[in-house]
Amino acid sequence: MNPTTLIRKKREGEKLTRAEIQAWIQGYVEGQIADYHMAAWAMAVCLRGMDAEEIAALTLAMARSGDSLEREPNSPLRIDKHSTGGLGDKISLILAPLLASCGLHVPMISGRGLGITGGTLDKLQSIPGVVVDYPIPQTPRLLAQAGCFIISASDAIAPADRRLYALRDVTATVESVALITASILSKKLAASLDALVMDVKVGSGAFMRDLPHAEALASSLCRTGTAAGLRVSALITDMNQPLGSAVGNALEIHETLETLAGRGPADVRELTLTLGIELLIMTGFCDSTLQARNLLTEHLDSGKAREFFDRMINAQGGKLDGKLPLAPRTPLFAARDGYLAEIDCQRLGTLVVDLGGGRYKLGEAIDHGVGVEVYARIGDRIDKGQPLASLYCRKQPEHWLQVLGKTFRIEDSPAAPLPLIHRHIAGPPTGEVAPAENPPAHSFKKLNAQ
Ligand code: URA
Repeated sequence: MNPTTLIRKKREGEKLTRAEIQAWIQGYVEGQIADYHMAAWAMAVCLRGMDAEEIAALTLAMARSGDSLEREPNSPLRIDKHSTGGLGDKISLILAPLLASCGLHVPMISGRGLGITGGTLDKLQSIPGVVVDYPIPQTPRLLAQAGCFIISASDAIAPADRRLYALRDVTATVESVALITASILSKKLAASLDALVMDVKVGSGAFMRDLPHAEALASSLCRTGTAAGLRVSALITDMNQPLGSAVGNALEIHETLETLAGRGPADVRELTLTLGIELLIMTGFCDSTLQARNLLTEHLDSGKAREFFDRMINAQGGKLDGKLPLAPRTPLFAARDGYLAEIDCQRLGTLVVDLGGGRYKLGEAIDHGVGVEVYARIGDRIDKGQPLASLYCRKQPEHWLQVLGKTFRIEDSPAAPLPLIHRHIAGPPTGEVAPAENPPAHSFKKLNAQ
């Protein structure tokens, strides 16, 4: 295949065939398509989009680029939650052990930071010793030890996503319904799940800035997942301000531990419970919302979920006994009285990346200890001189403090507080959208062997 032909075709807005998409992804994984070809193609997809058939073909091609995780015979329900990415989103780190503590299996294949949004794997690796790259045969041991794991896509698991994800991060090709859908679902299909709940973020700190775009992404995820035999539903949740207080890798681990101790910010706790309830109801594990909420709350507050977090960290080689590697802290005080009207999440996210908490180049090392803590929510009354935020950085704090100060807009009149959850989108019933050739998730391995 001549790579430029396919790039040009997409650039002109033409529809690609399933065979073309399959060959393109296979060629990329096998090294016939270079990163620069893929980057140009990804940009064409970002600008021109893909229709539902193309997205389904891309997702399957990416899922088939590696093997799927085998289910153990008689294994518990396998469930997962995935976020489309936002500032301060540490829910996966709390929810995986919480659900595992209830007796479910949560095999999470996660990503690193993408654009201004932090990555669960980067956060996890703030804990010294944590390993996220595992060969498939070792994954049953991780599940047996902790009931959950959080690992990376690899040369064996969704390798196409592993490479494309890193490339998109540094080529401004993240914000595409097609690329996000295929990226997320290829990893989830490879994990042989029974059910998935998607947390689709909307707002200034998310890839989808407004509700119509977020709805399009949520529908694409539900539709494509269901077509591939996976039960998917989605919540559209707010990302016009960071989730919780902490933004930055080690800081977010600290907040995770707080939430696992029954404390933590109210929004982090509530979103964790809501997403967990959704999964427990979807799978029939609980009969009612109240039963699911009571179960999850009990496990969060009693320390059971924390016990499973520790098991997961131990199983993945981590040591939580020392202090987290935080950079020196400098507080930011409010410059005036008023009400918090806006947090510029793009500026805030970029600041954390600039401090070294994210990447501009492929494979760049990051500084886990930098970041920001935000102490006010939109709509809050602010008094001049009150602590608004803290900056964790290693050099030039005066300069970065000025940048941080510009992320907050304080007005005289009160702004309405923001909702945490905007919409719930249930996946179509399995079968309704399933194209004949799309197999259930569990048969990918067999498919690869054909
Ligand atoms: N999370 C992913 O795994 N992929 C994306 O493209 C965005 C969020």
